[in-house]
Amino acid sequence: MSEEELERLRKEVRRITAEIIRLVGSRLNLIKEIGRIKRRLDLQPTAPEVEEALRETVLNACEKHDIDKNLGMAILNLLIREGVELQIGGEGSSKGTILYELFGEAKKLDGLGKKIIHLEVGEPNYGPPEKVAEATYRALAAGYTHYTTSAGLPVLRKAVAGDLQDTYGMDVKPEQTIMTIGGKYAIYLAIKTIVGLGDEVIIFEPAWPVYRLCIEEAGGYPVAIRTRLEDAWSPDLEALEEAINPSTKMMIICNPGNPTGKIYDEGLLRKLVEIATENGLILLSDEVYTLLSFKPFKSILELTDRDFVYVNSFSKTYGMTGFRVGYAVSDEQTIRKMANMQSISVTSVPEFIQHGAVEALKCKEEADGYKKLIAERLEAACRELDGLPTRYHRPDGSFYIFPEVEVDGFDSVAFSWKLLKEKGVCVVPGTAFGDYPAFMRLSACIDIPLIKEGIRRMGDLLG
Ligand code: PLP
Repeated sequence: MSEEELERLRKEVRRITAEIIRLVGSRLNLIKEIGRIKRRLDLQPTAPEVEEALRETVLNACEKHDIDKNLGMAILNLLIREGVELQIGGEGSSKGTILYELFGEAKKLDGLGKKIIHLEVGEPNYGPPEKVAEATYRALAAGYTHYTTSAGLPVLRKAVAGDLQDTYGMDVKPEQTIMTIGGKYAIYLAIKTIVGLGDEVIIFEPAWPVYRLCIEEAGGYPVAIRTRLEDAWSPDLEALEEAINPSTKMMIICNPGNPTGKIYDEGLLRKLVEIATENGLILLSDEVYTLLSFKPFKSILELTDRDFVYVNSFSKTYGMTGFRVGYAVSDEQTIRKMANMQSISVTSVPEFIQHGAVEALKCKEEADGYKKLIAERLEAACRELDGLPTRYHRPDGSFYIFPEVEVDGFDSVAFSWKLLKEKGVCVVPGTAFGDYPAFMRLSACIDIPLIKEGIRRMGDLLG
């Protein structure tokens, strides 16, 4: 009898599951129809007020049918995302392809011996300080060639915690740190650990594209708050508060900013922390460009001691991009989860690399030299740009300038292709970072004469 009952219930579950799929299909057909109408009327695929009304409906239905609201929101966000994808007809991914093709073409031209000026790269042309290279060779020769615990060597975790204590006067315990394969993997692990299926994550555009990709990879939903050059790239806090809803789990800031070069001042940072705290959000602060700050800088570590993930890296500061070592700081539980995830994927940062990183933390003077060099290059780039029809926020930090070209209907994707093909200069079109078709990102990772020559050639093409 009970076996029969079990079979009957299983059959009913199959029937209901099939019914849900049928309903999802009907919903997608409706969305396609809506998409067609919107295209005819030239309307945006996303409509925040419509999404808000849907949320209300789902929250009420969850209450009525005694369903966990988080589950309801997760299902709704998946449906919304699917609907938006349908309406844009894969346009989002084609943007990525265009960029990939552009950078691929630049590499191909390099291979053919053409002297391409690379203003697109986010990687400095200097290497690590001598002492770091030596410490790494020594560790390698001495047989430090093994796995380490996933969170990293105790000596490096202690050195990182000590460095943060010295810099910010904050009490960071080594157990609150994890050494990762570059800062990028720290961001990926944090998002994979914290963001669940259908959760929303606030990002501020223009944004480094990896945030969006990691959030989507985790099954989450990036919610972009657009910032503007006219506002010196400061976010509109009212728009931010409006975008937060029960599904919002995390907010990501990049400070100093890639691509804007913006440093958030203390007042703004405090407000962001306050909004995150009031709404129970985890604040992920990507501070990989910290030591390339040309004006006073406050770290998230100085403003809060809970619900945050701090990310930093050895790549940019110490010229160690190819070492692949970065780190995160958070509460011990989050760090343990990130370490578990690192252990099932890449195990750990190689042991000898971690020994090199310990040495890097002692190289503040060299890092300061790199910072001066980047500041000079940015200054030279700005002077050159001033002769062109552009406007921009003078970088407060990072390697980057993000100018807007003041030419009617300027299309940075078409321009970037033309610039590469006709003038041998590669830049990143603004559309890589959000809806910024009139902008381009230039980096100061190469020597001044080349930077100046690259910008001059841009000027030739702009006429
Ligand atoms: N965060 C930002 C904003 C970046 O631009 C980069 C690199 O381009 C990273 C993090 C990660 O760098 P890495 O993985 O080399 O530490």
